[in-house]
Amino acid sequence: KSGFVAIIGRPNVGKSTLLNQLVGHKVAIMSDKPQTTRHKIHSIITRDDAQIIFLDTPGIHKPRHKLGEYMVEVALGALREVDVILFLVEPQLPGPGDEYIINQLREVTTPVILVINKIDLLDNKAELLPLIDVFSQKYNFAEIIPVSALKPENLDRLVELVVSYL
Ligand code: GDP
Ligand code: MG
Repeated sequence: KSGFVAIIGRPNVGKSTLLNQLVGHKVAIMSDKPQTTRHKIHSIITRDDAQIIFLDTPGIHKPRHKLGEYMVEVALGALREVDVILFLVEPQLPGPGDEYIINQLREVTTPVILVINKIDLLDNKAELLPLIDVFSQKYNFAEIIPVSALKPENLDRLVELVVSYL
């Protein structure tokens, strides 16, 4: 199995941390491939049973000008072509930055896994339940998974989930 994954989310949710952990974690070979014609490849996880290719997708931010609108279109185009999207959030109620991305995701049919990151910051994991409830009312996520990219926690399970969508 092999396939393409995009990691999205507003600034500071932990996208770079997650990618660095995944690539340093349970990985046989990691390579930085030169740019392909259409996509910038950030990194690759190669396992016995699967190869997961992470794309450097341009971020989706609320456009403030015409060029910004064009960039959102480019970003959405990339999201339509990947096999699975990882949408990272913090363990908090969705803010305007999250809401904006969720609304953009309505224009893609690619499965979206909601990754609730930074769960090490929660005093009690039961706090996740109302969050999962609120997020799942906003969008039909293919999966919802809590992780800590930093600790790390639950990243093996995340990789298994991603592989199941390739
Ligand atoms: P990005 O802007 O989405 O790429 O976010 P970064 O990966 O740069 O992370 C932003 C900040 O959040 C950094 O200070 C990270 O150390 C911190 N961070 C990322 N993941 C976690 C996590 O799971 N737990 C905690 N406590 N902090 C995290
Ligand atoms: Mg980053």
